[in-house]
Amino acid sequence: MDIFQKAQEQFLSVAKKLDLSASIIDELKEPHRVLKFQIPVKVGSTKKIFYGFRSQHNNALGPYKGGIRFSPLVSESEVKSLSMWMTWKCALADLPLGGGKGGVIVDPFKLTREELEALSRGYVREIFPIIGSNKDIPAPDVNTNSQIMAWMSDEYNKLYGKEDWAVFTGKPIELNGLEGRKEATGFGGVVVLEELAKFYGLEPKKTTIAIQGFGNVGYHFALFAAERGFKVVAVSEKDGGIYVEEGINPELVLKCKEEKGEIAGCYCVGSVCDARLGREITNKELFTLDIDILVPAAIENVITEQNADKIKAKYIIEMANGPISEEGERILCQKGKICVPDILSNSGGVIGSYFEWIQAKENRKLKKEEVFEGIKEKITKSFRKMVELSKNKKLSFRDAAYEIAISKVAQAIE
Ligand code: NAD
Repeated sequence: MDIFQKAQEQFLSVAKKLDLSASIIDELKEPHRVLKFQIPVKVGSTKKIFYGFRSQHNNALGPYKGGIRFSPLVSESEVKSLSMWMTWKCALADLPLGGGKGGVIVDPFKLTREELEALSRGYVREIFPIIGSNKDIPAPDVNTNSQIMAWMSDEYNKLYGKEDWAVFTGKPIELNGLEGRKEATGFGGVVVLEELAKFYGLEPKKTTIAIQGFGNVGYHFALFAAERGFKVVAVSEKDGGIYVEEGINPELVLKCKEEKGEIAGCYCVGSVCDARLGREITNKELFTLDIDILVPAAIENVITEQNADKIKAKYIIEMANGPISEEGERILCQKGKICVPDILSNSGGVIGSYFEWIQAKENRKLKKEEVFEGIKEKITKSFRKMVELSKNKKLSFRDAAYEIAISKVAQAIE
């Protein structure tokens, strides 16, 4: 099923239960606006045309908010669904923000630094008329980072004719960036993990976790989970991963990955690779491990009808956006698995972005501890509201979270 169709069906099934009016359904089932444009960039000695998108789903609660991804897999459909999920995510976190998302179809790893800068600046020139610190506030996403946000902010400020540092979030610390933004999404995920553990009586040191994706989100999730005593026994990336029964040390694995360029073999101590210490696993295998909690933190649609029935973990914390397909979800539900939805689990990132936005608007500087405290407070509150509604109305966590978010947006529209 097309990813936007999936997002629409999720929305429509909740909208029906909430008895929303036809006009609200019409407004929310599509983005307010989707911009598609060409970005010409000189690559080597020739001019190449890249396609970019910005989808603005809804701004009833506040300015559109959402990241920009650079990937060959970007599509109009993907950007539209991600912008809709941002609307629900911001509403659930009780932020005065709406939903947006952007992307460019490109493999950024094939561009030089100069070409990447030209592409980033070209993207901003196209979306300049529709963004602004009270209109639409972009951020980094897959394959975009604080350097790209710095180029984008600079291009915006040039076109605007004065400086406004509240238009982009995820900027470098030196350019009005936020202390703790880098860790925010993974940290928020671990707030969810701790709440889940408390609710189901899971003891951290006996709770085993496997994480797909060891990028910004996966690494920080692993780091904070291990710090709180949970046993992260497996991590994987695109080309495979590692399983260590005793639990990995995320900092050492990251160091090893940076030295080797991949995480395969990162269970070895010095030059000694002892199978008792760990082993290599495939990405596929990670999903079938006999563990307690599975954390997809890489890309969408990785749990489908192909592998859902092989998952042994009882709990799934969605850190990537949309990692479970419609059919995958049906199988998981039949098997009694408990899934914490992405719109809650990975909302630490947008909550961090909200603090960065406020910081620039109010010209002040927040400390990392204040940021973490704010994220913890908001996510804990949302988690408890979701659990309560789920118990009262006998809903899955996903349906409960969606009901809270969608009714909030609908009320704002009304
Ligand atoms: P990233 O680019 O830093 O890391 C992505 C990781 O996924 C890498 O380890 C990569 O090797 C792995 N990966 C890519 N393709 C894979 C595949 N086919 N199989 C297995 N692993 C694969 O990205 P990130 O910022 O960590 O984001 C990860 C996910 O979290 C995305 O879905 C993103 O939309 C979502 N997310 C990120 C943030 C944030 O603040 N960064 C916030 C909310 C949601």
